[in-house]
Amino acid sequence: MSSSSSSVPKQPLSGWGRYPLVDSYLQRPEKVSSLTKIIQTAENKPVLARGAGRSYGDAAICPSCTIITERLNRMLAFDEESGILACETGVTIKEIVEIFSPRGWFLAVTPGTKFVTVGGAIAFDVHGKNHYRDGSFSRHVCNLKLMLASGEVVQCSSQENSDLFWATVGGMGLTGIIMEVEIALRPIQTAYIKAKSIKAKNLDETLALFEEYEPQYQYSVAWIDCLASGQSLGRSRLSFGSHAAIADLNQEQQAAPLKLKPKPSCKVPFDFPAGLLNRYTMSCFNAFYYHRQRSWQVQSVVDYDSFFYPLDFLRDWNRLYGKRGFIQYQCVFPTEVSREALVRVLQLCAQKGWGTFLAVLKRLGSQEGWLSFPTPGFTLALDMPIKPGLERFLVQLDRLVIEYGGRVYLAKDARLSPEAFRSMYPHFLRWLEVKSQIDPYNRFSSAMSKRLQIESAKERIKV
Ligand SMILES: Cc1cc2nc3c(=O)[nH]c(=O)nc-3n(C[C@H](O)[C@H](O)[C@H](O)COP(=O)(O)OP(=O)(O)OC[C@H]3O[C@@H](n4cnc5c(N)ncnc54)[C@H](O)[C@@H]3O)c2cc1C
Repeated sequence: MSSSSSSVPKQPLSGWGRYPLVDSYLQRPEKVSSLTKIIQTAENKPVLARGAGRSYGDAAICPSCTIITERLNRMLAFDEESGILACETGVTIKEIVEIFSPRGWFLAVTPGTKFVTVGGAIAFDVHGKNHYRDGSFSRHVCNLKLMLASGEVVQCSSQENSDLFWATVGGMGLTGIIMEVEIALRPIQTAYIKAKSIKAKNLDETLALFEEYEPQYQYSVAWIDCLASGQSLGRSRLSFGSHAAIADLNQEQQAAPLKLKPKPSCKVPFDFPAGLLNRYTMSCFNAFYYHRQRSWQVQSVVDYDSFFYPLDFLRDWNRLYGKRGFIQYQCVFPTEVSREALVRVLQLCAQKGWGTFLAVLKRLGSQEGWLSFPTPGFTLALDMPIKPGLERFLVQLDRLVIEYGGRVYLAKDARLSPEAFRSMYPHFLRWLEVKSQIDPYNRFSSAMSKRLQIESAKERIKV
């Protein structure tokens, strides 16, 4: 093994949801040359890139060779005029915002945690709280370099080799290894967000508030109490925000508008007992969260960490769900049927007691990559502990999602069936055409691609 790459014996690997756990051989190359060597010498065994492992299920696991990109994390160039950053794809969102926000630049799109890599953000074409305005991560990718199964490195963008680009953004690492990327950052005046938090009594009020405030703010999201029922079904706390100007800050903040004081974070020290999260504790937590804000509306100026990454303050929070892990079920419904479909999902959750700490509701705009998740409408994310009866409940939700023409987000998935996947992702065949051309023997493969049969049909190699 080359000195700039390290490998460890087969070990159990999972995503953020800690389910499933799959034995895998890991590689951690530090240089492009060692990565090339891994691809060329892996004896045609399937390989796959893995970023920070923040996808929830089995998308970032390849039993025969999972290549962790954490050491391929160099910043390559930054143009102060245009805000275009060139970097390797093991760079994390945390590194980008911490280095560039003090210089007046921020990511145009960021997911709800900063512990993800640029490679993972592209491979799932992630969305933020501003998808309805600014699209997903790929919209801000100027170009990327992809290592194909042959070892050849190809550049692509929405203009150049565009089929390869649209198959790669949202392509879950199955077209190759994204090595380098140029992304456009957005200028900011301050490291703060001017925010408004509003309580809504039920789903209709929640949806009406989205309509009313979205034109005024860059970002929007709602936390729904999914165990509330009857008149309160869909009650929520909505949060809107826009990057603050210097004039929005108080005197102390104005003294250093782009600097944030370091904040302490805490860590969940052990795996919680599986039964701790039950209908009762979740109901209490949701009611507490809803009522904690006393007035109906609160305005504030908060730092970007608190606004974009509230969960990052509690490290290892996935341990709250116990050793067996959890599933995050995130689905999207087209705008015209969103209300009706959301009522049915929330009714089902309340009836069957499959609650979640906080269900997150966001508005999405149009789809970009062929396997990207967004479609114009509302997306709801529900965290549920793994316990008997969950799969039966989720199959019911799958049927409902298909009935309303929606889809499930694969970044969060660990159990969807191949048939359900095909009904939800209508551009799959277009994607498969590119995959079959560039990787007919499925060198790039994951536990998820096997489960969902997202593979070139020519010849499947054994893992
Ligand atoms: C708390 C939390 C909040 C989240 N919020 C959001 C959100 O708001 N919006 C959203 O869209 N998602 C969200 N996610 C999901 C997360 O953003 C995605 O799953 C993202 O892909 C994780 O990036 P990662 O670096 O951890 O990638 P991994 O989980 O390691 O890998 C994800 C996929 O990317 C592929 N991949 C990784 N690196 C490369 C590479 N260099 N080349 C090719 N393929 C590669 C892998 O093969 C895999 O298929 C959230 C996740 C968590 C845990």
